[in-house]
Amino acid sequence: MTIANNQQLLDEINSYNQIRIEMTQNGERVTLGHPADVREKIEEMVAEKVGVGFVSLQEDVEDGEYFVYVHTDTYDELDQEDVDKLEALDIDESEEGCTEAIKKFLEVEFRFVTETIIPCRKCNKENTKDMGNGMLFCYDCKSEETVEEAKKRFFEKQ
Ligand SMILES: [Zn+2]
Repeated sequence: MTIANNQQLLDEINSYNQIRIEMTQNGERVTLGHPADVREKIEEMVAEKVGVGFVSLQEDVEDGEYFVYVHTDTYDELDQEDVDKLEALDIDESEEGCTEAIKKFLEVEFRFVTETIIPCRKCNKENTKDMGNGMLFCYDCKSEETVEEAKKRFFEKQ
């Protein structure tokens, strides 16, 4: 691999790390974070709702779309009965098909977040939202802070 290719790879990795996805259910945020963080949340939700002990998914971002689909580990870890439960819901290895099936099954939507996100004062997660009432709310630890204080804290540090 040439140096130029390495740089290109680094740029791709960096821009991937900067991607944030918001997952909503009935218009309400469930979580916001890196594509992999959101995938972990989806794994929990799918396993719980299907009633299987474990689901391993893979995530991918391509052409401005977010995909989640079954990782082969899932087939190694689950017994056939549980695999059948997932397949009956079209939760399988196909990127597009599985993403659509998961969106339908969990009643969720994905959105790419382009605005600046101020991490939570307490837990430092980026799962925060300006609630429009002057408060910044953290969906992880449920703590609140005024947007004014949050901005001061965040932008002074930059
Ligand atoms: Zn927090």
